[in-house]
Amino acid sequence: MSKKLFAIFGNPVSHSKSPLMHNLAFRGLGFDGCYTRHLLQDGSTLKEAFDDLSLSGINITVPHKTHAYQACDVLDPFAQKVGSVNTIVKRDNLLYGYNTDANGFLKAISEFKDIKSVLFLGAGGTAQSTAIILQEAGYNLTIVNRSSARLEYFKSKGLDTYTFDDFVPSRYDLVINMTSAGLEDDSLPCPIEILNEVIPTSKACVDVIYGKDTPFLKLAKSLGKPTKDGSDMLLYQGIIAFDYFTDGAYDFEEIKSFMQKAFVI
Ligand code: NDP
Repeated sequence: MSKKLFAIFGNPVSHSKSPLMHNLAFRGLGFDGCYTRHLLQDGSTLKEAFDDLSLSGINITVPHKTHAYQACDVLDPFAQKVGSVNTIVKRDNLLYGYNTDANGFLKAISEFKDIKSVLFLGAGGTAQSTAIILQEAGYNLTIVNRSSARLEYFKSKGLDTYTFDDFVPSRYDLVINMTSAGLEDDSLPCPIEILNEVIPTSKACVDVIYGKDTPFLKLAKSLGKPTKDGSDMLLYQGIIAFDYFTDGAYDFEEIKSFMQKAFVI
């Protein structure tokens, strides 16, 4: 069997940890694979780039997850439902699409016990897929976003939605920053008055941004709350993608033992 090539497509993509994560697991598990990164400017050329590079599989990051969804020949039922694909595998010349972000997120928050109600700050693409999986898992979910347009999707799924202006805070077990606020700036995901109401009564706070103590996490810590960043979500979505890339050849914990080394290098 010849070496299989994989890549992450995105724009930007230079910051991505995925090549390191997957290459550590390929090497550790003795799988003859190599994982690189590809700056994809135009999402509509995704399939062409996939073929030109003779790839066996890819991960897709911002802003191409909808293009990835459109490029697939076969969609996993969950990816079909949420309209977003972050993992593609080529089998028999067909592109199979999956969404591993949502399951990765669900696994990442499973360490918090007795969680029933969850507040999402943000309503972007990541919030969409993770909202559906939380809804399916029986969590009581509320979404608050800066602007109203992106809330339509969540409304159509029967979820409680608010903008900052009409939000009436309640008590939430988990408060999650689903925005990109704090990624490349020092902004909070919503007005501090809202955070000062919802954080003190929560059990814990989570940020999907990884590798950074965001202003949101700093505030939660200062209010004495347990916190968690997006590293485990990234790790778990990667393990699930790796499982698709290698057709289930390895155990979850086995993959994890190598992949998690990417977070200490
Ligand atoms: P999108 O661009 O789809 O959505 C961005 C969201 O953030 C929107 O709700 C937007 O509000 C809101 N937002 C952006 N800036 C601000 C601000 N300054 N104040 C308030 N709200 C703001 O992004 P994604 O959903 O794809 O990504 C969101 C975050 O998730 C990113 O930080 C990304 O890095 C992270 N992520 C982490 C992963 C992991 O594995 N840990 C995996 C995937 C994503 P509006 O609608 O008003 O514009």
